[in-house]
Amino acid sequence: MTREEILKKRTDFIFPCVIHFYTEPLVADRAQGHHLWDIEGRRYLDFFGGILTVGVGHCHPKVTSRIKAQVERLQHSSTVYPTEAMVALAEKLAEITPGRIQKSFFTNSGTEANEKAILVARMATGHYDVMALRHAYSGHSQLAKSVTAMSSWRKAGVISVGISHALNPYCYRCPLKLTYPGCGVACAEDVESAIQTTTSGAIAAFIAEPIQGAGGFITPPKEYFKLVFTIIKKYGGLFISDEVQTGFARTGKKWFGIEHWEVEPDIITCAKAMANGSPVGATLATPEVADSYKGLTISTFGGNPVTAVAARATIEVIEEEKLLDNVERVGRYFRQKLEALQAKYPLIGDVRGLGLMQGLELVKDPKTKEPAPLETNQFMDRCRANGLLIGKGGLWNNVIRLSPPMNIGEAQVDDAVERMDKSLSEMTA
Ligand code: PMP
Repeated sequence: MTREEILKKRTDFIFPCVIHFYTEPLVADRAQGHHLWDIEGRRYLDFFGGILTVGVGHCHPKVTSRIKAQVERLQHSSTVYPTEAMVALAEKLAEITPGRIQKSFFTNSGTEANEKAILVARMATGHYDVMALRHAYSGHSQLAKSVTAMSSWRKAGVISVGISHALNPYCYRCPLKLTYPGCGVACAEDVESAIQTTTSGAIAAFIAEPIQGAGGFITPPKEYFKLVFTIIKKYGGLFISDEVQTGFARTGKKWFGIEHWEVEPDIITCAKAMANGSPVGATLATPEVADSYKGLTISTFGGNPVTAVAARATIEVIEEEKLLDNVERVGRYFRQKLEALQAKYPLIGDVRGLGLMQGLELVKDPKTKEPAPLETNQFMDRCRANGLLIGKGGLWNNVIRLSPPMNIGEAQVDDAVERMDKSLSEMTA
């Protein structure tokens, strides 16, 4: 099919709510390693990785060969017949997750992983109310849309009761108009105030992304989650770390983002990069939480042997290619380069993130911090024309999201930053 035929069929046969980047959508055709080609044969350096999913590079040979072998051996059995692939993955996850997390419930997406996490937290605690954070993104189901706290993603949803949202630890736009560290991380206290005023006074869980993804890579100060942990335990809640974007080495040095805040969650949810692009998700919990699940449950494709071997192979690649270290080292180098860009272009109001999860908040004026969504689109378009794919997000659609495959080196960073620099100078010209 030609590009035009694909776009016409997309209009005719796909729900219009499914979003695409760019005024002129890019039709993806094939990809290898750090590059993706469009249907017209143009090659792009991929610094978004299918929304932080292609962690070890497109079509990594080890992941691909494991998938091929498994497809030829056993493609599906459902969970009524356990497989070696499923239990071996669960064992590996227990090894790499922090604290006492040990048991897995496999799903096909991050949305389902979050649904299951909230459900099991309600069962384990006997409480109903859930605390989340403003600017969160949690998925596309009714419950996940209710946890999500950005109006554009909630509009279409019928919002569930029992979810409250506390102020966001968004230092660049502090909701309390304070400045870190003099603020004493006062925003954390709002979690307690929100529990006292908007819930029954006891909570099932607090759910948060260590670094908010779709919200625009908002990165809380280092004290934040420890303070919140103490509060939520006081009100009987479990700590759910939504690691759909931050999991599997993305933030460097640690397997999961929350480890940077030295908090041991009761539940971790993950998806995206877990299997480098195969549809997968998981709710991971401590034995007491997992064992508290009441009634039966089934997910036909959860723990599917093909995605399970893809996930295990992905984890092995992260280990073999020493990506925890690579992300830390290359991430630091990338950050320096981005800060140098910020010094050159006032459009870049803030640089934030960890490891190879770096965001640029674009503003019309660094003093007023007025969001610059049009310029963000222009920047995306210019980068595309210059052969670089990047992502965007944020409540005002003004945050550039950078999340390349984790096995890039300094050379790919230099290449990407040169293309960004060229794009910015073309915009200002
Ligand atoms: N949680 C977070 C933090 C996410 O970023 C996403 C997806 N962008 C989800 C949950 C939902 O995952 P999925 O799209 O796989 O359902």
